[in-house]
Amino acid sequence: MLQITENAQLKEFNSFGVEASARWLCTYNSPDDIRQLIGHFGHLTDMHILIIGGGCNLLFVNNFDGLVIHPANTYISIESETDDYCLVKAGAGTEWDSLVSWAVERNLGGLENLSLIPGTVGASPVQNIGAYGCEAKDAIESVNVVRLPMAQLQH
Ligand SMILES: Cc1cc2nc3c(=O)[nH]c(=O)nc-3n(C[C@H](O)[C@H](O)[C@H](O)COP(=O)(O)OP(=O)(O)OC[C@H]3O[C@@H](n4cnc5c(N)ncnc54)[C@H](O)[C@@H]3O)c2cc1C
Repeated sequence: MLQITENAQLKEFNSFGVEASARWLCTYNSPDDIRQLIGHFGHLTDMHILIIGGGCNLLFVNNFDGLVIHPANTYISIESETDDYCLVKAGAGTEWDSLVSWAVERNLGGLENLSLIPGTVGASPVQNIGAYGCEAKDAIESVNVVRLPMAQLQH
């Protein structure tokens, strides 16, 4: 479900716990929610946009005068499977380490070197998280994205 809050506190959305605020905060659960969001804000073509997952790689030094988008779609599912290959789909809002644990519990190899990295699944391809000679790009088959028409994306 799409949830839009004006003048939202971001303390719980960054791992430093910085008390910054956002002009708007949108939490979404599905691609349909994002389409609804675009319908809601579509006319604001000069809006600054920041996507926040777990906020583990962000440091706010000011309030954010724009729209923060936070994925809350948490799911993990098996899309297809053969004897030596398993295609897994996970929502952007899923905690990354939950996905790693989920895979390890099922004896699915490939992500185990990336355990305990804080953050979300959605940020993993953006950051191409890596550790111990392994990178997210080695395990990611594809990423579903929604192109924001008005985006002035902040990084
Ligand atoms: C203690 C600690 C240990 C760490 N160890 C490692 C490590 O071993 N290896 C490593 O690679 N990193 C490591 N990191 C960095 C961090 O875990 C990663 O950068 C992780 O990907 C951050 O995820 P997040 O969801 O918190 O992203 P955020 O901090 O929320 O966002 C990071 C960037 O990704 C963008 N973004 C986030 N979600 C999305 C989305 N759904 N769609 C589009 N853009 C998005 C944001 O706009 C921002 O630019 C560590 C961090 C900490 C604090």
